Amino acid sequence: MNFRDLKKQYEALKPEIDAAINEAVTSARFISGPQVRELEQRLAGYVGVKHCVTCANGTDAITLALTAWGIGRGDAVFVPDFTFFSSGECPAAVGATPVFVDVDKRTFNLDAEKLEQSIKTVLDEGEYTPKAVVAVDLFGLPADYQKIRAVCEKYDLLLLEDGAQGFGGSINGKKACSFGDIATTSFFPAKPLGCYGDGGAVFTDNDEWASLLRSLTVHGKSGNDKYNNIRIGMNSRLDTLQAAILIPKLDAFERYELDKVNEAAALYSQKLAGSGLVLPLIPEGFVSSWAQYTIQLPENCDRQKLISALKEKGIPSMVYYAKPMHLQGAFENTRSAVADCAVTERLCKTVLSLPMHPYLEESDISFVCNSILEIIDE
Ligand SMILES: *Cc1c(COP(=O)(O)O)cnc(C)c1O
Repeated sequence: MNFRDLKKQYEALKPEIDAAINEAVTSARFISGPQVRELEQRLAGYVGVKHCVTCANGTDAITLALTAWGIGRGDAVFVPDFTFFSSGECPAAVGATPVFVDVDKRTFNLDAEKLEQSIKTVLDEGEYTPKAVVAVDLFGLPADYQKIRAVCEKYDLLLLEDGAQGFGGSINGKKACSFGDIATTSFFPAKPLGCYGDGGAVFTDNDEWASLLRSLTVHGKSGNDKYNNIRIGMNSRLDTLQAAILIPKLDAFERYELDKVNEAAALYSQKLAGSGLVLPLIPEGFVSSWAQYTIQLPENCDRQKLISALKEKGIPSMVYYAKPMHLQGAFENTRSAVADCAVTERLCKTVLSLPMHPYLEESDISFVCNSILEIIDE
């Protein structure tokens, strides 16, 4: 059994993907070919925003957004403590100070009340200027944007949605990657919508930011005069080949893959109910795209022993994430959190992510669940 079965997906989509690769390679427009713009239009339409600017990966996407906003030295950017490293790496890379905030114990996402407390503390201390919030749609579930947006408005902060894991999720029908003033996603192969290498995208309704972002992806090039570079930018583009691969993958994602992962998640939750394990909570009106199906083990359960016992049965599992952001070595000497992150610290000790992808069979899910129940019973 695979944790995320990309081979099965390729077998299912082989004719379309092979044709797309063949066309991209034979037309030889490897950089900024027509497939890139076609994909951007498809993605913007799917998400429901005006602009989509693709780029080289989900990390660059975050850096591009922060750069477009002019965020840098002296600025505080609030980031959940429980996330992938990039969410905090990018604010630090542009010179700002990431301030890590604890998360909700059931949704794994940024806790809006604790966010407000941290903003107040940073304002009181006066060393950094609060500028932006990076809200992460962790494991596929959109963050609580109603509450987070209200806090951002109260303190006049920009809201960046890190939707690297959230693409396809929604709140009351409104799609993930449309909630931030700018939103970003990643097409890393294992993400809900993945390509065959690295890729990413930035989304916004704001025309000015969109043209700034597009310029930044191509060495700060002027929109009118292609020989004039009017700002310092990056070289961060999505390859034509990756765009070509993503088009049929987006078709499948829309047609059935998103439904399939939701069916798989429902089966997991049904089969693991009443076991004493804490199962993922999807609030009313929210839809997850299930980048991960993550359970919480009782604190007295030996996680490493469970992982090894599952592995012996051929079941892969992963720990996302083992270390809180504020404890990462890179942030050792910074004022990385202004309040305790007790929930994150506990989650890092108790979480376990199970195999999850659209091609998982019901029999696989039964086998995983029965194995877990047997092992933790011993
Ligand atoms: C994967 C991920 C990123 C970075 O995406 P890359 O394409 O790997 O650079 C950023 N944020 C989160 C939450 C992620 O999961």
